[in-house]
Amino acid sequence: MPQFLSSFLVVQRGKCEECGAEFGTSETLQSTNVECNNCNKKKVVCRKCKIKGCECGGKLLDSWDKNPGMIF
Ligand SMILES: [Zn+2]
Ligand SMILES: [Zn+2]
Repeated sequence: MPQFLSSFLVVQRGKCEECGAEFGTSETLQSTNVECNNCNKKKVVCRKCKIKGCECGGKLLDSWDKNPGMIF
């Protein structure tokens, strides 16, 4: 990971709102704070629950998904 990114990323603490799993060191505020693109519900979820998506059938988008340009 580039240096400027690692200083920008903040490790998420606590647990996933969906499955209750503790966040690991690879989970960041940017990747765990997600928003459904269908019902606009905001959640704090782990990677697995993010991939599963929202219960309404929508996709859970994190900061990267919403602002793809930020990575580059
Ligand atoms: Zn989870
Ligand atoms: Zn939803």
